[in-house]
Amino acid sequence: MSMLRSIFSAIGSLFFPRRCVVCGEYVSDAMHGICLRCRYEIPLTNYWRESNNPVKEHFDGIVPIVEGSAFFFFSGTSLWRTLVHRFKYGGQWHIARTMGRWYGSELKESGLYDDVDVIVPIPLHPIKLFKRGYNQSTYLAEGMAEAMGVRVERRAMRRLRNNPSQARRRGAERWQNVDKLFGVRQAERLKGRHILLVDDVLTSGATLSAAVRTILDAVPDSRISVATLAVTRRITPIR
Ligand SMILES: [Zn+2]
Repeated sequence: MSMLRSIFSAIGSLFFPRRCVVCGEYVSDAMHGICLRCRYEIPLTNYWRESNNPVKEHFDGIVPIVEGSAFFFFSGTSLWRTLVHRFKYGGQWHIARTMGRWYGSELKESGLYDDVDVIVPIPLHPIKLFKRGYNQSTYLAEGMAEAMGVRVERRAMRRLRNNPSQARRRGAERWQNVDKLFGVRQAERLKGRHILLVDDVLTSGATLSAAVRTILDAVPDSRISVATLAVTRRITPIR
């Protein structure tokens, strides 16, 4: 069913290329597929413009990362929260790619991500991937890679367990939930690289931290930066 929905939404986006992906209004000034009003109203973090920002600070002391960023605040019942749900659960994967292109162009402009070699999306477990029909983070990564002129490694990492959502878990439980969650299967493709690890929403960072640790264990000479599309206003303390 989700695959069918994906196909219909892809066909829809071909026929209505000038429809804003956020508000759905027909527009003539859509840049990155998003209308002027939505681009004005989006609660951007601007974290990617500076190395010292709350996302980077959150990961410091937990795992070593080069840069860390998120694009907009995931808050309340806003249109932007709904947007994440639409591409994550609603079959509208093209939104993830559209937002990825926009985010990628901003990262490129910031200059802090100039030496990123490769983008790795956080993988879904094969069972979840089969049910959903796609990995939203892969589409996000593809959009970003296109704008940044780098490649995406879709199969470098794999998810070993189909762990339940992190949303309702606390401190130690979050850590247990992500223990041995990922594996690296193509270490040679990441060797010596600056990897940009990409996920949709940052809540506590437990999942991303687990992924960073897994990569650094398997590929010690790699360097890792982290970028999520959305972030909660207050990042949940990880310990
Ligand atoms: Zn709009």
